[in-house]
Amino acid sequence: RTVYVNGLYLPEEEAKVSVFDRGFLMADGVYEVTSVLGGKLIDFAGHARRLARSLAELEMKNPLTEDELLAIHRELVARNDLVDGMIYLQITRGATDRDFLFPENAEPTVVLFTQSKPGLADNPTAKVGIKVISIPDIRWGRRDIKTVQLLYPSMGKMMARKAGADDAWMVEDGEVTEGTSNNAYIVKGGKIITRHLGNEILHGITRSAVLRFAREAQMEVEERPFTVDEAKAADEAFITSASAFVMPVVQIDGVSLGAGTPGPVALRLREIYLDEMRKAAV
Ligand code: PLP
Repeated sequence: RTVYVNGLYLPEEEAKVSVFDRGFLMADGVYEVTSVLGGKLIDFAGHARRLARSLAELEMKNPLTEDELLAIHRELVARNDLVDGMIYLQITRGATDRDFLFPENAEPTVVLFTQSKPGLADNPTAKVGIKVISIPDIRWGRRDIKTVQLLYPSMGKMMARKAGADDAWMVEDGEVTEGTSNNAYIVKGGKIITRHLGNEILHGITRSAVLRFAREAQMEVEERPFTVDEAKAADEAFITSASAFVMPVVQIDGVSLGAGTPGPVALRLREIYLDEMRKAAV
């Protein structure tokens, strides 16, 4: 694999960052994951926009213009013959003497690499749906910034695995915030319900596109919090993320939703999302 590190395209064995990098020492960095389908980038502009916002919120300088970023993404797709998969991008505040205060003159560390996932859009899991458990949301208060602090989400996925489930929905003050690496939705009486935007959840790029497509298709959307009990009584549920697209949820804490199979709203949105985003891919 060829990876990108600070302006260079290198074989992965030769790609290195400093042990003093603040991403490594303090999780002082942000990331993005962009899907690639048929060699093209899905919603690149959305990811570039959110990246700029994450950096600005952390008072980090943005080392690349959107055009430069796009060129690097495309170059990595080409050099790795990537057809279906993902591009991971991480920018940290850089390497300096360890200090809690932000350094004045550190150069950001920029790393991008590809992950091949042949047949990503035909993931057979979408036909059966996933099972989730609910766990307390004990993350920090700025979940709208896409930082590399992923320890709790990682623990959440392990808890799900140990419970025989696929993922965890996190709960705060009795209400679902989001999944460990995705946004969470329920459907009741044809209405799509998902938590409103705020500091409590990541503003999913897929969420934004899916809600737009849902409204264009005259589906009713309500952006508000919902409880786990409300979710268990829903007709169906699903999650969205850049790599899972729209994925049906068929069970919450062992309780099956509806018929226990993927619901029609989730399946329809998945189809619309994939169709539209492939058309708009760059
Ligand atoms: N919420 C969290 C906590 C995430 O980590 C992610 C994606 O990684 C999402 C939501 C979905 O965001 P997106 O649709 O931009 O991938």
